[in-house]
Amino acid sequence: MPRPVQYNINKKGLSTPISIVTGPEGHSGEGFFATKLSDVVGLARKNSIWPLPFATSCCGIEFMALMASHYDLARFGSERVAFSPRQCDLLMVIGTIAKKMGPILKEVYLQMAEPRWVLAMGACASSGGIFDTYSVLQGIDQVIPVDVYVPGCPPRPEAILDGFLKVQDLVGKESLRRRHSEKYSDLMASYRIE
Ligand code: SF4
Repeated sequence: MPRPVQYNINKKGLSTPISIVTGPEGHSGEGFFATKLSDVVGLARKNSIWPLPFATSCCGIEFMALMASHYDLARFGSERVAFSPRQCDLLMVIGTIAKKMGPILKEVYLQMAEPRWVLAMGACASSGGIFDTYSVLQGIDQVIPVDVYVPGCPPRPEAILDGFLKVQDLVGKESLRRRHSEKYSDLMASYRIE
């Protein structure tokens, strides 16, 4: 007797209504809406972040879970993961970074166009984790500036999502002038980046 194979036999309605991102604050009237340019740019940027996963070890498995259907980072406009730095704006550093790997990580960061953001995922990327040894970088912020740290060994996908939402928050609120400010130049100079 053939096995009955049926998919999606129970038709489901939408359990929750589709949500649309909230627009920026502004003034509206008959046929017009006025707001700040930086708010519109921030809204577009934060909902279309393209991540570059720089995965070296076990935390990479959690990243795979994050991208799979259950957690589904695509819900936040970030399904377009790439390994081409010039097309990405969020560097996700995932796993143990050996000191030898430091210059390579920095090179990848430099190849990304501004504006770019960095998320350190897991204890190893954030602080060296359990590997307090001569060969492991004790945190990627020794070679590149980091915007958000996600703790855990490994962090659960929920924690990564939380860190990602914090990145979105930073991206959405960032002033268009920040990257041209003296403070930002000083930050880059402290990493010997011109
Ligand atoms: S933080 Fe833990 S799980 Fe992640 S790369 Fe380091 S040892 Fe592996």
